[in-house]
Amino acid sequence: MNYQVNENGYYGQFGGAYIPEILYDNVEELKKQYLTIINELSFQEEFASLLRDYVGRPSPLFLTKRLSEKYGAKIYLKREDLNHTGAHKINNAIGQVLLARRMGKTRIIAETGAGQHGVATATVCALLNMPCFVYMGATDVERQHLNVQKMEMLGATVIPVHSGNKTLKDATNEAIRDWCSHPEDTHYVIGSTVGPHPYPDMVARFQSIISQEMMQQLEEKEGRHYPDCIIACVGGGSNAAGAFYHYLDNDKVRFIAAEAGGKGIDTPFSAATIHLGREGIIHGCRTLIMQTEDGQIEEPYSISAGLDYPGVGPIHAHLSQVHRAEVLAINDDEALDAAFELTHLEGIIPALESAHALAVLKKVSFQPNDVVVINLSGRGDKDMETYIKAMKENTTKGNE
Ligand SMILES: *Cc1c(COP(=O)(O)O)cnc(C)c1O
Repeated sequence: MNYQVNENGYYGQFGGAYIPEILYDNVEELKKQYLTIINELSFQEEFASLLRDYVGRPSPLFLTKRLSEKYGAKIYLKREDLNHTGAHKINNAIGQVLLARRMGKTRIIAETGAGQHGVATATVCALLNMPCFVYMGATDVERQHLNVQKMEMLGATVIPVHSGNKTLKDATNEAIRDWCSHPEDTHYVIGSTVGPHPYPDMVARFQSIISQEMMQQLEEKEGRHYPDCIIACVGGGSNAAGAFYHYLDNDKVRFIAAEAGGKGIDTPFSAATIHLGREGIIHGCRTLIMQTEDGQIEEPYSISAGLDYPGVGPIHAHLSQVHRAEVLAINDDEALDAAFELTHLEGIIPALESAHALAVLKKVSFQPNDVVVINLSGRGDKDMETYIKAMKENTTKGNE
């Protein structure tokens, strides 16, 4: 079984490039060039040096003590939360902007939902002196004001999108429209393993630094380069793809993906695309999608803004379909509990997205010697309002 993308851009039946005629040349140019450029020694050196000196990599692999005792396994955290800008997204943003520069592009556009990918892209554009335009649903502009201000301080232009539900899906459509009208000079930095081929593969490669480091770190700490299990949350799927990447063909490594159950997969408020989605085409990619009976995209719901994409990366649709990865839906309250648990036991406030991966510990069992790596995709600073609200609600309940 081969889990990598094939030459036509498919993972099994998922993936491909379903794009309007006008984007054909852009996507084709990217497809022709990305592997050549990524494999150039000078590109690799430039990428590696920024990951080291700017992002702060390698991110530590931390063996937890109290969390491990509680769940009866050797539980490591891959600390993507310690990266510059607070999550794994910067790895991909740096890779794509460097690539764009080498392709002669002079203008960067991006879409963003919660604003995390927008901030990562704006950051790299400031560093590399590229003009940056970020499309963001008007609803999200209001909800995520701090990130809007960060992007503006970094010199990016944030463009509020007023169509549709005014959220991520609409911002993505608008970014695609921009790309159609500036095909020559513009590179579109997609923030996850989604979109038309070659994006899912390209983003997975840029994030594969996560499992590449893990191999060396486990070799040092455990005397073998692989763990028994890797757990990661899946929105579009980039942090999970990066954490699984170098172990895809090693069937000794068990993969568990955590998607956002929202208020529950049996309610209308969920973002568990692999559980609930049906096959269709979204943003240039054949994959599982949250959609109504007649094929309208359904607005997903999750307490965590980074996990509510209505589609999912084609690699994860495939890994689940062929039973290479197990997929669990984690509900809002389970993620919240897991976030507080990690904070109390280890002194680390995780991003709400990452808390979905942590919550998996309550749902599976391990042997005492099992080596488990949880990809801690980001830090919780951006989620403090949600955490504070949850604490207040708990105190009120306690007093009743
Ligand atoms: C954006 C984000 C995610 C979800 O994106 P993936 O592409 O699925 O990794 C997860 N964790 C954090 C901290 C994020 O910011």
